Amino acid sequence: MPQLGFGVWQVPDAEAERAVGTALEAGYRSIDTAAVYGNEKGTGRAVAASGLPREELFVTTKLWNGPKQTWGRDAVLRAFDDSLAKLGLDHVDLYLIHWPRPMRDDFVAIWKTFEEIAASGRAKAVGVSNFRPQDLDRIAAVSALVPAVNQVELHPLHPQAALRAEHAARGIVTEAWSPLGQGKELLTLPAVTAIAEAHGRSAAQVVLRWHLQHGNVVIPKSVTPARIRENLDVFGFELDAAEMAALDALGEGAAGRRIGPDPAEFD
Ligand code: NAD
Repeated sequence: MPQLGFGVWQVPDAEAERAVGTALEAGYRSIDTAAVYGNEKGTGRAVAASGLPREELFVTTKLWNGPKQTWGRDAVLRAFDDSLAKLGLDHVDLYLIHWPRPMRDDFVAIWKTFEEIAASGRAKAVGVSNFRPQDLDRIAAVSALVPAVNQVELHPLHPQAALRAEHAARGIVTEAWSPLGQGKELLTLPAVTAIAEAHGRSAAQVVLRWHLQHGNVVIPKSVTPARIRENLDVFGFELDAAEMAALDALGEGAAGRRIGPDPAEFD
């Protein structure tokens, strides 16, 4: 799995083809979409138009185990078929359960169907998103298949140190969503901009470097071609220990600051 990929949340389907096309042209080889983003078709069109060999690409999508439906085996398999059809692919590289929704108590059953999907080869790997350690425990209790990835909100203001350690102990890859903190306050903080200035880099590049040096997989999103390229151009410099520590410190104290919903409550 490439450590740096391209996320397409909030990119309308009509725009997704151009944005993903720009990303593939710039050199991204990993794309993160989801059924609920409504842009699997545009993403698929861009993949097809790129002419890149399928084996060079890493495509992730997610089961929208959303409300108004019981997510039994047939519903999960139908949703997976629907995602593949929209993407125009015969397999994805990674299929994720989008949220645990612990109040529904159905993610363990969903995982059993994910085992079947993995065995079929139509998803090269399966994983989860927004899962807490206790959710991972419940899967481990019934399944020998360890989620390949847990994709969670993670950025310097919400660094998830304890969860990252849990993942490392369990052999699960940590993937950071909203790695740039959605491009808001985080990129304006003096601790970030001072490091950016020292390196002649942008704040976004510095934050992405922090992730890469912590071993996180990142999937920054942008629809602006210059930013799409800028976010990939993060392999030519390195943060030193003091700079990493300064960014780590942003997550202390007032932190734990989420931008997105709390998985314990999100339904
Ligand atoms: P992000 O942290 O990637 O921030 C994206 C925003 O930051 C852009 O819209 C833009 O405003 C700004 N930005 C991007 N590049 C910039 C640059 N170089 N300079 C200045 N500003 C820049 O936020 P995100 O889109 O929420 O997260 C990334 C991806 O993570 C999503 O697209 C999606 O694929 C995934 N995601 C998953 C979940 C989940 O529940 N699994 C939730 C949210 C997001």
